[in-house]
Amino acid sequence: MNILVLNVGSSSLKFQLIATDEERFADNSDTRLAWGQIERIGGEAVYTFRAGDGEPVKGTAPLRDHRATVEFILSWMTGAESGVPIDSVAEIGAAGHRVVHGGERFVRSVGIDDAVLRGIEETIDLAPLHNPANLRGIQAVRSVLGPGVPQVAVFDTAFHHTLPEQAYLYAIPYSLYRRHRVRRYGFHGTSHRFIAYRYRQLTGRSREEVRLVTLHLGNGCSACAIAGGESVDTSMGFTPLEGLVMGTRSGDLDPAILDYIAQKEGLSLAEVESLLNKQSGLLGISGLTNDMRELLAEAEQFDDRRARLAIDIFCYRVRKYVGAYLAALGGADAIVFAGGIGENAPAVRERICQGLEWLGVRVDPERNAAHVGGREGRIGTDASRPEVWVIPTDEELLIARDTWRVVHGIETRY
Ligand code: ADP
Repeated sequence: MNILVLNVGSSSLKFQLIATDEERFADNSDTRLAWGQIERIGGEAVYTFRAGDGEPVKGTAPLRDHRATVEFILSWMTGAESGVPIDSVAEIGAAGHRVVHGGERFVRSVGIDDAVLRGIEETIDLAPLHNPANLRGIQAVRSVLGPGVPQVAVFDTAFHHTLPEQAYLYAIPYSLYRRHRVRRYGFHGTSHRFIAYRYRQLTGRSREEVRLVTLHLGNGCSACAIAGGESVDTSMGFTPLEGLVMGTRSGDLDPAILDYIAQKEGLSLAEVESLLNKQSGLLGISGLTNDMRELLAEAEQFDDRRARLAIDIFCYRVRKYVGAYLAALGGADAIVFAGGIGENAPAVRERICQGLEWLGVRVDPERNAAHVGGREGRIGTDASRPEVWVIPTDEELLIARDTWRVVHGIETRY
């Protein structure tokens, strides 16, 4: 079945068309038929499309909203020149959406009907930036493909529904949890779930026997402690702001800082929150960029002090979380790197693991250098305990497979 996988933001959209079914799950022969991203929806939008492994096609088009964007993508895909092997939208069997927040209600992937749409609407309070865009994406696909094409929601929070109370409750008055559901939800769940699944597949180990610390280090960054196939702790919290240092997000800080900055800088609380989300992290410390690649180059070529500082703080925070989660899990079989930084920056991986030698962690410099650009495998020495791995994440694949399972009424095992 051809499944359209969508990750919709307020003015951007990423998609893949993936051919998958149960037999392909077994031998990993799911096929990516098309891929693309569109930015600046609402004006002169900028798109990049690619059919299979072909050359990317770039261009601009006036796309006033998400519906126009979905129509544009489908007319490209079904056009004779695209190189995508479908001739009509009737060949798209289902659509799977990444939905950021499922609250406490959605603990697995679900088929979208009116009740689910209402449920996602009810969580808008918890994810005011993300869930409205996800809903617009769902409505756009429904209006273009028609209500007959099943749609499935795959939630970023769902994998973390197994967190125990001791991990998801904050030490604030319990009534705030009861009244307003203030708790840790965790995000990047589909990524951490994929990494754990792939580790088990690569090592031939069963869900029950594996304990992992997974590190999704991209523009957004999070760590996850996984035991018995379940998330038992994760670094993002009530929102994606908590935890590791990220491209533009601060991660952990003393909440008393918010009011202090607001007073000193004459900002509203909303403006401070925006500063912590958009102007902090690697960008805030370095004053240069949120892109780790550029920071590494600045630090190496110009020995830029603040670029070095940003990298130091980033790596130190990750190492602290690795230590915390090893303690929480009582040890782990492996530490696994993923995400744009985790998959491509050997120097950062090395720095994070520095100082963990006492534990038995040993990074093999040659293996570390060789595992970039999507290559998966061990970067620790054979003797390293825990093992150290790079496993490129593939959220879209998991969304496509979940969609297939939900459409066929097969229970999704997390
Ligand atoms: P997102 O979280 O938006 O999905 P990615 O997982 O693609 O982002 O990660 C993007 C980040 O990965 C970039 O901001 C960049 O810092 C980092 N990155 C990508 N390639 C490299 C590289 N070769 N070296 C260091 N960092 C890299």
